Amino acid sequence: MDVDAIQQIPLCCQDMPDILVWHYTSSGLFSVRSAGHLQMNLSMRETRGSGSEIQNVTWFWKRVWRLRIPSKIKVFAWRCCSNILPVRSVIRRRHLMMEDMCACCGAEAETLMHCFWGCLSAMEVWQQSPISFVLDKEAGIDFMSWAYGIGCWFNEDTLGLSFVVCWGLSSSRNQALFNNLVHSAAATVQMVCALLKDYGRTQSNLGGVPLDREIEVETAG
Ligand SMILES: [Zn+2]
Repeated sequence: MDVDAIQQIPLCCQDMPDILVWHYTSSGLFSVRSAGHLQMNLSMRETRGSGSEIQNVTWFWKRVWRLRIPSKIKVFAWRCCSNILPVRSVIRRRHLMMEDMCACCGAEAETLMHCFWGCLSAMEVWQQSPISFVLDKEAGIDFMSWAYGIGCWFNEDTLGLSFVVCWGLSSSRNQALFNNLVHSAAATVQMVCALLKDYGRTQSNLGGVPLDREIEVETAG
C-alpha cells in the first residue's frame, strides 16, 4: 500500500541536486522556534504515550495561561518549556561558552532540570516549600514533560506555584551569580510566597497551601 503511494509521487524531470528540507516549517528552512515546537510535541508523546499530542499541548497551554499567577511568570514558564532560558548548557550549545558545569555546585552540567531539581540547593527549596509533595513525582526528561506531568497530577494552584518556585530558584541563582548575594532556601521560599500574596492570592484560593506560615529568613552574603 505504501509502495503504491510512493510510486505515484511525480518526480521532477529536471536534473536538480538533492537538498535538505526541514518539513516542520512551510518554507522548508530550519528555525529554532519550529524545533522548540517539535521538541514539545515529542515530550508530550513520551509523557502520555498518546497520538493526540496537539490536543495535549493545547490543553496544557490553555491551563497555563489561565493560572492565577503574574504574567511575567507565565512567560518565564513558557521560556523554560521552550528550553530557551540561558542556562550554561544552552549557552554552550550555541558555542558561546566552553564550560557548562553548574555554577552553584559544580557537580553536574547546568541544565534547566539540574537548576530546578538536581542541584542540592534547589532540592532544599522544594522541601521547604508549601508544595514539597511534588517531589514524590518523577522529574521527567525535560522541563516541558515535568511541567506537563505536574499539570496532569495536580490542580492548577499547584501547577502555578510550581512555576513560581522555579522562578524563585532562577531569581536566587541569578542573585548569587551576578550580585554575589546568596539566599537561603527559606529566603527563596519566602520570596515566592510573598510574590503570590502580593498578587492577591489568599490561602483558600490556593487549595489549602499555607502561604502565610511563619518562615525564618536567613540571608548570607
Ligand atoms: Zn548544581
